[in-house]
Amino acid sequence: MGFVKGLKCRECKREFPKDPIHVCEFCFGPLEVNYDYEGIGKVLSRKSIENGPPSMWRYKELLPIDEDPIVGLNVGWTPLIKVKNLAKALGVNNLYVKNDAVNHPTLSFKDRVVCVAVSKAKEFGYDTVGCASTGNLANSVAAHAAEAGLKSYILIPADLERGKILGTLIYGTNLVGVHGNYDDVNRLCSEIGAKYHWAFVNINIRPYYGDGSKSFGYEIAEQLGWRTPDNVVVPVAGSSLITKIYKAFNEFKDLGLIDKVTSKIFAAQATGCSPVTTAIKNGTDIIKPVKPNTIAKSIAIGNPADGYYGVKTVAESGGWGEDVTDEEIIDGMTLLARTEGIFAETAGGVTVAVTKKLIEQGRIKPDELTVISITGNGLKTREAVENSIGEAGIIDPTLQAFDDHLASKKL
Ligand SMILES: *Cc1c(COP(=O)(O)O)cnc(C)c1O
Ligand SMILES: [Zn+2]
Repeated sequence: MGFVKGLKCRECKREFPKDPIHVCEFCFGPLEVNYDYEGIGKVLSRKSIENGPPSMWRYKELLPIDEDPIVGLNVGWTPLIKVKNLAKALGVNNLYVKNDAVNHPTLSFKDRVVCVAVSKAKEFGYDTVGCASTGNLANSVAAHAAEAGLKSYILIPADLERGKILGTLIYGTNLVGVHGNYDDVNRLCSEIGAKYHWAFVNINIRPYYGDGSKSFGYEIAEQLGWRTPDNVVVPVAGSSLITKIYKAFNEFKDLGLIDKVTSKIFAAQATGCSPVTTAIKNGTDIIKPVKPNTIAKSIAIGNPADGYYGVKTVAESGGWGEDVTDEEIIDGMTLLARTEGIFAETAGGVTVAVTKKLIEQGRIKPDELTVISITGNGLKTREAVENSIGEAGIIDPTLQAFDDHLASKKL
C-alpha cells in the first residue's frame, strides 16, 4: 500500500527516491512528497473517506507513509465550531473555529505532523528522533517517541514557557535548552543531525513531516460539507501549515472531491516576530529575517524555512497578512475564552486578533464564511494571561462570608 512515488524538488522538479533527505542537491530547493494522484483517484472518494476512522488517518492515501501508521492513530478530526458569540463581537455572521487546542494527544496541531514523521522515521529504521522546537513540537515529538519506543533528543530555546517544558519532560525524553532563539536552535540541530544520523522531524525528514499539516485543511473542507471557506486565518511560524492548508484544498479539487477552491488564505503573526506578514505588506517575496521578541513564543521563528512559499500561498489565494501586538494577543485570547469558552494559547490570540483587524480593514466581509485556525492550548502558555484575568475571591466556609462576598461584588 501507499501512493508515494518519491520526492520532488519544488523548484527544478527533479525527482528523488523516498529517502530521509530534504534539499535538492542540484538547486538547493526544498523537496516535496510526490504522490501517485492517478492511483489515489481510483480508490479515494467522499464515501471512502466518510467510512474511515474519526482521525486524520481517514486521509491516509494522501499522507506519506507506506505502511499503516505506527503511532498517533487518534490524532486529528478535531471540532470545527460555528462561533456565533465571537462572530457577534466581531461584527460578522459566518465565523468558525477549527479547534486543534484539543488535538490528541498533546493539545496542538503539531500532533498532525509528528505522528506522520515518527511513523516515517520508524519505516526508515531510525532508533532516535529529534527536533528543534518552539514548544509544541517538543511536546508532540516526546509523546510520540515514547509511544513508538524510540529515543528522542529535543532542543528548545532555554526561555520557553514552563508548561511547554513540563509537557515535554513528562514523556521521559532528553530535553536540551539552548541559550539562543529558535533560529539558533534550528541551525545547531542541522549540525547534530548530520553528525549523529538521527531523524530530526522538521529537518532531514521535513518533506514527510510537512504533509501531516494537510489534514488540517482536508478536515475543514470535509466538515463544511465538502467545500472550502471564503477565508482561512492561519498562524505562521515556519510557514509549513499555511502552505499545506492551501495545498490540501487544491488536492481535493484536483481529485474531484470538491468543485472549486474559493479560499483566501490570511497569514497571522505577532508584531514582535513578523517576517512573513511584513514581506506580504511590502509586496515582496523576499523574507528579511528578524530577532523574535513576543509572548507568542510558539510561532516566534525569525527566519522561516518556508517563508517564501507562505508569501506565495497568500498572494496566489488573494489573501493578506497582518500582525498584532502582545497586548492585542492577550485581548484575543480572553475574547475567545469569554465569548466561546475556548482557551487557546498565544498563537490562538494572534489569529483571533488578526481576524478582528482584517474585519475592521474590510478584507474579511461580514457575510463571508471565515475559519479561524486555533492551533494550541492555553494551559501551556499561562504566563501570557496570568496578570490579565483577575484572582479568585477567597472566603471562609460560611454562608455569611459568601453573602458578604456577593455584596462586595455588587457595590
Ligand atoms: C508550530 C505552530 C504553528 C505554525 O507552524 P508552521 O511552522 O508555520 O507550520 C502555529 N501554531 C502553533 C501553536 C504552533 O505550535
Ligand atoms: Zn531542484
